[in-house]
Amino acid sequence: MSQPNPIAFVDLKAQYEAYRQEIDSAIATVLEHGKFIMGPEVASLENELASFCGAKHAIGCSSGTDALMLIMMAEGVGTGDAIFVPSFTFTATAEVPLLLGATPIFVDVDPSDFNMALVDLEKRIQAVIDGGELRPCGILATDLFGLPADYAALEALAAKYNVALWSDAAQSFGGALGNRKVGSLARATATSFFPAKPLGCYGDGGAVLTNDDELADVMKSIRAHGKGGEKYDIVRVGLNARLDTLQAAVLRAKLPHFASEIEVRNRVADAYDAKLNGVVETPARRRGHQSAWAQYTIKLPADRRDAVAAALKADGVPCAVYYPMPMHLQSAYRHFGDGEGSLPVSEALSGQVLSLPMHPFLTEPEIDRIADAVKSAVGSR
Ligand SMILES: *Cc1c(COP(=O)(O)O)cnc(C)c1O
Repeated sequence: MSQPNPIAFVDLKAQYEAYRQEIDSAIATVLEHGKFIMGPEVASLENELASFCGAKHAIGCSSGTDALMLIMMAEGVGTGDAIFVPSFTFTATAEVPLLLGATPIFVDVDPSDFNMALVDLEKRIQAVIDGGELRPCGILATDLFGLPADYAALEALAAKYNVALWSDAAQSFGGALGNRKVGSLARATATSFFPAKPLGCYGDGGAVLTNDDELADVMKSIRAHGKGGEKYDIVRVGLNARLDTLQAAVLRAKLPHFASEIEVRNRVADAYDAKLNGVVETPARRRGHQSAWAQYTIKLPADRRDAVAAALKADGVPCAVYYPMPMHLQSAYRHFGDGEGSLPVSEALSGQVLSLPMHPFLTEPEIDRIADAVKSAVGSR
């Protein structure tokens, strides 16, 4: 019997095969016109992204991390500001406030949907107020693994304490809350086009989405060294954080397929749910929350997780742990938190989570193979 094809965790090659003509021709067009920096594809993509998610402005930039940077620089985040971030997230969420001299306040997450826990968030905002040393400035909500956070509740808290609400949607672009798409759920939303994200380019890239005209203008200026009306008229301190024309061209070729890719990701998640229900703890669903399914992440008993991961890999099923350590325990950040035991859910999750292959080119036989491998890995001792 022939060996089945290896299963990909994220299959960028299959995606390229599917859209090869559009992608090749988009790249060739840029090579012909030669406008590699801020070429016409960048503005076209920005218009298409804005209309895709129902935001007034999209500002393309060099990565998801720089998208967060643009937001916080434009909002004037700096020394003395407390920025509330989940501890169970990717590094960039905590890194950006620190780069600006602000203080990240790590918040615990919900054990079922992995997004910021509202009760803990409010407790920590109150603690900062009582402490009297820092100014509560903003909440950076992260839509972990693609599932939008509860923005209505977050917005109410932000209003109650007069802080800004921003969204780190690096994993959730393409998701929605009811009929409101990710990108229109917060004052400003950062997303990433890192190749393995739901909408990925062929290098680094990102975007900010906002409805605020003034914020959009300031972010456009910061992305290009703080320029004013003229290129050599510098009105603020900025960055070199532009999106490459080539990456914009690749994204424009992929964007028309993106909505149907999200539908397929949802079908893959439904199929996993059906096969793994009762075997492992499958990802939480929230009514009205449509995930972009950046990851399909199961929960396992902490004393079994690494053995299950090893068994899956031995069986030819790639899997990954996002994230093996919460931010408040990282050596670079731990002096901002209260150490071990202070955020128990984030600490427990880092020992329990395991993400399975997730991409829109998974076939039914592959999903069966993965589910069978999970069943036997969980069953074996
Ligand atoms: C990927 C990611 C980022 C950073 O995006 P880059 O494009 O890699 O800079 C930020 N936040 C979260 C939650 C992410 O998953």
